[in-house]
Amino acid sequence: MAGLHIYQEKLTPELAARLSSVCPFGALKADGAHLSVEAGCRMCRLCVKKSDGVIVEEKDERPEIDKNEWRGIAVLADYSHGSLHPVTFELLGKARELAKVTGHPVYAVLMGHGTEQAAKNVAAGGADRVFVYDSPALAEFSAEPYADAFADFIRKVKPSSVLVGATNLGRSLAPRVAARFRTGLTADCTALEMRGNTDLVQIRPAFGGNVMAQIITPNHRPQFCTVRYKIFSACECPPAPGEIIPMAMPAAERPYGIEIRRVTAVPAEVDISEADVLVAVGRGVKSEEDMALATRLAELLGGQLACSRPLVEAGIFDAKHQIGLSGRTVKPKLLITLGISGAVQFAAGIQGAECVVAVNSDPNASIFDSAHYCVVGDLSKVLPELVRKIEAVRDGADMSTETGVDTGADTGTEKQSGQAVRQSAAAAEGSGQASGRGEADHVS
Ligand SMILES: Cc1cc2nc3c(=O)[nH]c(=O)nc-3n(C[C@H](O)[C@H](O)[C@H](O)COP(=O)(O)OP(=O)(O)OC[C@H]3O[C@@H](n4cnc5c(N)ncnc54)[C@H](O)[C@@H]3O)c2cc1C
Ligand code: SF4
Repeated sequence: MAGLHIYQEKLTPELAARLSSVCPFGALKADGAHLSVEAGCRMCRLCVKKSDGVIVEEKDERPEIDKNEWRGIAVLADYSHGSLHPVTFELLGKARELAKVTGHPVYAVLMGHGTEQAAKNVAAGGADRVFVYDSPALAEFSAEPYADAFADFIRKVKPSSVLVGATNLGRSLAPRVAARFRTGLTADCTALEMRGNTDLVQIRPAFGGNVMAQIITPNHRPQFCTVRYKIFSACECPPAPGEIIPMAMPAAERPYGIEIRRVTAVPAEVDISEADVLVAVGRGVKSEEDMALATRLAELLGGQLACSRPLVEAGIFDAKHQIGLSGRTVKPKLLITLGISGAVQFAAGIQGAECVVAVNSDPNASIFDSAHYCVVGDLSKVLPELVRKIEAVRDGADMSTETGVDTGADTGTEKQSGQAVRQSAAAAEGSGQASGRGEADHVS
């Protein structure tokens, strides 16, 4: 940050007192022939102009970077125990898109042991070149040897941008390596853009999701960012696979402080980010009966239960079930939200959902802005009916005459927008009505 330098040896008590009185913010304190700058300084530079060289501005020393020396967009191949995390291919897809702006190549760096097949998959998945560090030292993930290999790749290849999946592995590795290069890192980006001068615009929600911050790293290279799984889509792969380049494992930069003695597999948990069908419950689900019905609904649809943040805070769900800004980003084919208001922080996590059905008693709930099918009604009436109808379909009952969620109220008009649903719902006296922004006006 810029600051002020005061040549104290040039001061007299009178001059110090005079300069102190110049500051409109009272930030210059005189003590005899000594002057000090307090925290209230706004850097208005008035004292600099009035001091005849006694107070000067200290400018930041910006490092000069030759951006032409840094070329390529690199993706960390997220590899562990013989499998590649799918975020790898999503990042390769985005990297190919960004590379069109600058004409740079797309690289991948793969670290592990026994990586032959994974290297071929990454080469076929969109990387022009895959740099492979295959070593027994990398058989299990450990931050130190992995960071050494990653840093070696950056020193030798000099990629301009580095994209890392916001997985446990990526989140552990990216900040360490970024710190080694004294460069910036933007975590959990939700969008990325490339400028012609190779500056990567890293976009992410800030201030509780109320603004989308656009962050650049104009004076340092490489530019690091992490991106969550399911934000981008895998690429249409180029017809020819990329080149695989074996790299030698570098010597340890410093003695490793971690020794892996035993590796124990934890029971695999189904990640809500992977689910095709999700039933998400919010603070509107208040009774045990409603919760049991929501669980039944998820079972019937072969889906999983997820939740909004208050239910995690109340200890009802584990944090892994939370959708949203501080939870998981999800991309299911079907998402049913029950009693969720649709706050921006929740909505940020469902943008990729293919079909959203929202049930809420408040016709003005923001969730309806994100929903394709909007059901305005009380859960205690809508949920039992919904479950009953799905069970009936499953049991082969004749549903030809039953097409709506009949909770005693009018059904909405075909192809209404969320806004229209809210308007018509405000006029409705019943407790539940279903309407769609898609092809049909019913939920069944
Ligand atoms: C920095 C930050 C990060 C955050 N991250 C997240 C995040 O990742 N995920 C997240 O979810 N939140 C997050 N939040 C909190 C977020 O702002 C909201 O407070 C939260 O999403 C609200 O959860 P909700 O919709 O379940 O509850 P509420 O906002 O209380 O909504 C309950 C809804 O249920 C409806 N309802 C009530 N009774 C019934 C009924 N009988 N039948 C039908 N509908 C009914 C109501 O009309 C209401 O719309 C974050 C907040 C901050 C500040
Ligand atoms: S720069 Fe402005 S605010 Fe800061 S000490 Fe000088 S006069 Fe005061």
